[in-house]
Amino acid sequence: MAGEGLDLSRHVSDEVRKTTCYMCACRCGIDVHLRDGKIRYIEGNRDHPVNRGVLCAKGSAGIMQHYAPARLRAPMKRVGQRGSGEFEEIGWDEALSLAAGWLGDIRKTDPKKLAFFTGRDQSQALTSWWAQQFGTPNYAAHGGFCSVNMAAGGITTIGGAFWEFGSPDWERTRLFVMFGVAEDHDSNPIKIGISKLKSRGARFVSVNPVRTGYSAIADDWIGIRPGTDGLLVLSIVHELLKARRVDLDYLVRYSNAAWLVIDEPGTEDHGLFARDDKGRVLVWEGVTEQAVPEGTKGARITLSGRFQLADGRHAVPVFDLMAKTYLDAAYAPEAVARETGVPADTIRGLAAEIGRVAFEEAIEIDQPWTDMRGERHQTFVGRPVSFHAMRGISAHSNGFQTARALHLLQVLIGAVDCPGGFRFEAPYPKPVEAHPRPHGKPEQVIPGRPLPGPHLGFPLGPEDLLVDNEGRPTRIDKAFSWEAPIAAHGMMHSVIANAHAGDPYPIEVLFLYMANMAWNSAMNTAETIAKLEDIDPATGQYRIPKIIVSDAYQSEMVAYADLILPDTTYLERHDCISLLDRPISEPDAVADGIRWPVLEPDRDVRAFQSLLIDLGARLGLPGFVDAEGKPVYRDYADYIVHHERRPGVGLLVGYRGRDGELAGRGAPNADQIERYKENGAFFQMHVPPEAAFFKHANQAWQDFAVRMGLAETPQPVTFQLYSEVLQKFRLSADGLRKPVAPPAYRERIRTAFTPLPHWYAPIEEDVVAADDFPLHAITQRPMAMYHSWGSMNAWLRQIHTENRLFVPGVVCDAHGLADGDWAWLISRNGRIKVPVARMDAVNQHTVWTWNSIGKRKGAWGLNSDVPEAQKGFLLNHLIDDLLPPREDGSRRSNSDPVTGQAAWYDLRVRIEKAEPDVASRPQFPELRMAQGERTDELRYGEEWAG
Ligand code: SF4
Repeated sequence: MAGEGLDLSRHVSDEVRKTTCYMCACRCGIDVHLRDGKIRYIEGNRDHPVNRGVLCAKGSAGIMQHYAPARLRAPMKRVGQRGSGEFEEIGWDEALSLAAGWLGDIRKTDPKKLAFFTGRDQSQALTSWWAQQFGTPNYAAHGGFCSVNMAAGGITTIGGAFWEFGSPDWERTRLFVMFGVAEDHDSNPIKIGISKLKSRGARFVSVNPVRTGYSAIADDWIGIRPGTDGLLVLSIVHELLKARRVDLDYLVRYSNAAWLVIDEPGTEDHGLFARDDKGRVLVWEGVTEQAVPEGTKGARITLSGRFQLADGRHAVPVFDLMAKTYLDAAYAPEAVARETGVPADTIRGLAAEIGRVAFEEAIEIDQPWTDMRGERHQTFVGRPVSFHAMRGISAHSNGFQTARALHLLQVLIGAVDCPGGFRFEAPYPKPVEAHPRPHGKPEQVIPGRPLPGPHLGFPLGPEDLLVDNEGRPTRIDKAFSWEAPIAAHGMMHSVIANAHAGDPYPIEVLFLYMANMAWNSAMNTAETIAKLEDIDPATGQYRIPKIIVSDAYQSEMVAYADLILPDTTYLERHDCISLLDRPISEPDAVADGIRWPVLEPDRDVRAFQSLLIDLGARLGLPGFVDAEGKPVYRDYADYIVHHERRPGVGLLVGYRGRDGELAGRGAPNADQIERYKENGAFFQMHVPPEAAFFKHANQAWQDFAVRMGLAETPQPVTFQLYSEVLQKFRLSADGLRKPVAPPAYRERIRTAFTPLPHWYAPIEEDVVAADDFPLHAITQRPMAMYHSWGSMNAWLRQIHTENRLFVPGVVCDAHGLADGDWAWLISRNGRIKVPVARMDAVNQHTVWTWNSIGKRKGAWGLNSDVPEAQKGFLLNHLIDDLLPPREDGSRRSNSDPVTGQAAWYDLRVRIEKAEPDVASRPQFPELRMAQGERTDELRYGEEWAG
């Protein structure tokens, strides 16, 4: 048929292999179509619980990720100066011997000299366990510079959070309010959800300084000033309290609104909950006028007043404290309008709409269920208002309290885990106490021994901090120290600066996995690069002596490695999307999934997770070798199947038991991965109807969760509107609780650790004069590019080849700027020269650009004259990773003082018109390619042309 018209056989795939996308963090199911051993195209898996067949631009462009010329091809060691790009290819034996030699030495002598940090990896159940068995306290993934405020704010308040831990009830919600940029958390599920809302005529309100992405299709857009979302939310709370639009029954049943708080200023238990001698929390009973244990049957609970307890102390219900705090005139819409940039009428209107929909459009589902107190209910009552937020509100130094405020609002109207509201996804909800405490105290770090528990967790008070007797941090990133006590995801953004300064101590090996810390994942990029290159004149050695990098591509960071361990693409390896790690459950189904090698690598590369297991065995780490010192696991696939955290509980919940007939709990099944592959690379177990809502207090859910191995015992959650944990830190700051906070941190803790959510201005606003830097500068996440992941992708690069600074029309007019002009953007940390574009759908005090489009010349296998390296730019150069020096010369991380979340969006700038230019500034010296050829295009598919 050749040459006689269209050959249809050319367009048919030989085989379809179902796996999981990894072009962003959503983990959609994909069908990879293959022909003659090459990828033909990728489409969405229609049966997959995450995307139901929907595929985004990034997902379908996975083919170009897989064949990108920027892929690393073999292990390498540095032979020139660090950053010079001079490497020599070596074999895997040499590479692994080198790594095991470096790591083995420090494990025997001082394990904290290893800092092991991973980027947006989805194998943290393995990487964290490996680091724990190694014994270093210095491990975390990227959450500290991403959205830990959302996770920590949610878990400490309601026992869950947005995105991976819960989602709006897309089927039933009638008013959906989204705060800030959230384009990729969740990506396809939110698109599917918003289309459902629109088809039902539900209303979608977007609160975001910039009207782009999802905001562009919102029914209402509220162009708020960055960093003031918490103030807006608490003003809405003010209005709802004033109008008595609160669900008191829900508050008393499911939150700590009725719990009594001791009101004895100056004493060591001031602000803590009143408890009886059995440790039970007390509430005030209005008929007998005495304190009774919470949950006492028949008690008529009083929510306001100041009462005297039997021991003479006074106490006040949480609700009373809330009402006094939020009814204050400081939260009235008129009072916050100027700060937030949102007119008072808009705030009042939004509050009224939230109250109206919650209470006048309440829905009921006929489904009997039983709560944890044994009370039978005939229906699930729903308040169909839901919220979503991610990095936008999170990446501020007040983001933790803002996230708490948003959850307080949800609880106040009774909209958490009800029909139409926010719904939990397994394994959540989980009370904060069910999470581990952080490990890595000085006495827990012992040469040659594992840490006694996981690195990351939630301190329940200052006694759980990872500090020495003098209060100094024990982790290199200073997570869980007085600087960031509840740094639940670590502080990866602090590691390079601290390691360079030897503060709190020098390290020997920095081990990074898929983290672009020399470019778009670093604040203060130029200084970060200088720190990686810096040599100590006293020793002639690099201040960070050894750097191991594992990545699949030639990112900017790879150039600074001493040893490169090349990873596979996501289509060439096993992966595990585990409930022990980062779940993909839906509100109505417990779910997990896998990736598997749909193609064999054609280069000398190894899947990082299998490599880590190999390295664990070479180092003789407990759990990685048996009693005779032989490797326990063949590779990552073997680990996924056979590793058990508790007897019968492993990484995957599906097809357990010898014959694969069990779900949740069961012995390892050697055939498990094959069964997942047959099922489309995922497993799901539907939640019983009576367990679908009010999971925090639903007996059927709690029993189901135990059956599925999500918990060993029922873990009901009482929503913590008032946080006793935070109050304990304040008592330490007041010198009333041990350990006492060091004087230098006391004021900061008093401000940031209020037990009721509150708003304070982002820290940057205290350290710069508003007149000098009158504008906010933020980034938005383009739909088509997930951070730098698409940097080398021939299709995605065509969508965002360069970026511009979007400037409000009024600012353009004031500075004589027109589309295509150039401007200097100046912060306290430096200046960048950028092309501008006029825009009116943006807050008038805010400039913005797309995230991560600018590239360093020579990186990602691209030609040096590609637009991303010429005109593309990053705001990162302007953002200091440290706050200005204090009086004693010490400097603190530019982060949230509670969680250590990097404060990317606190940035303040001014703008000045500049002469036209051909390239953005600064430009950095061109990187040399470590391997392969450069290109600015990728030809693929010529052999398929019809
Ligand atoms: S949303 Fe993310 S995971 Fe889903 S198809 Fe797109 S890139 Fe892949």
